[in-house]
Amino acid sequence: QAKSSGRNSYQIFSASMNSNSVVRKSDERALERALEHDEFILHYQPTVHLESGAITGAEVLLRWERSGQGLNFPAQFITIAESSGLILPIGEWVLREACRQARAWLQCGLGLGRIAVNVSAAEFSDRRFLSKVRAILEETGLDPRYLQIEMGEDSLSRNPPHTLPALQELKNLGVRIAVDNFGTGRASLSFLREFPIDTVKIDKSFVHNIEAKSGKAVATALLAMAWGFNHQIVAEGIETQTQHAFFKKHHCAEGQGYYLGRPMTTEAFAALATQRNPS
Ligand code: C2E
Ligand code: MG
Ligand code: MG
Repeated sequence: QAKSSGRNSYQIFSASMNSNSVVRKSDERALERALEHDEFILHYQPTVHLESGAITGAEVLLRWERSGQGLNFPAQFITIAESSGLILPIGEWVLREACRQARAWLQCGLGLGRIAVNVSAAEFSDRRFLSKVRAILEETGLDPRYLQIEMGEDSLSRNPPHTLPALQELKNLGVRIAVDNFGTGRASLSFLREFPIDTVKIDKSFVHNIEAKSGKAVATALLAMAWGFNHQIVAEGIETQTQHAFFKKHHCAEGQGYYLGRPMTTEAFAALATQRNPS
């Protein structure tokens, strides 16, 4: 904003000691208003069984229909939500809305395997997280085995003495746990063995790299490792027929990516799943 109003004002603005915190405050207020005014929506991206093409579930992806700005993506606001603490009420909204929608779909017979919800480290480490999950499952009536919580390696391995019992409690509830963007974090491999993880999602950077020879070796190594630990595997970010064929050939059960289905509205996802998974 300051930039567009001219060079001088940009210089004055950036010279001001408080410019960053002023911008941050106004971003935070905009996010607060977005919650109050119901400007968040969820998009759903299918995960697909590579062999059969059946839809195994959906990943829930947050979008902000920001007045006057069109659709905003997580990269544009998640960091601010996390640093301001607003991720807690926003994440709670996401979880409730996703569980409510999944329950509604299941009730009308949609063959939905699971719904995957992304959770930030700040949400997971909040002491009220588990009771929130429990309350939302109860309130929406969603059978917990349909819910998958996705967390990055770094969130999972940040504070092991807290993480392990919290993951175990989620498992006791019946919720599934996935490691998101596997291969990009700094987690030690022992966490893959010790934590009660159901699924690893191979990061899209490794999927895109299979067109190089070394990339093929790395991708097959990641698959072998996930099998070794007895985890289910999803290859993320499949964009081409070549990538699709590679993971299918190497017996990776599931994939996700633009080639298989983009993130889409509630209605579009329901239509796709109805057509693809006849009951
Ligand atoms: P993620 O959990 O790894 O989600 C996958 C991201 O990759 C999504 O970006 C999705 O649109 C994108 N994607 C899917 N297929 C392809 C593909 O074939 N190629 C490429 N290049 N990208 C693909 P999106 O929706 O912008 O979300 C970005 C990240 O924001 C997510 O990464 C997740 O970490 C975070 N996020 C999204 N929704 C939520 C939420 O409700 N709560 C929290 N805490 N984080 C969220
Ligand atoms: Mg994810
Ligand atoms: Mg991911």
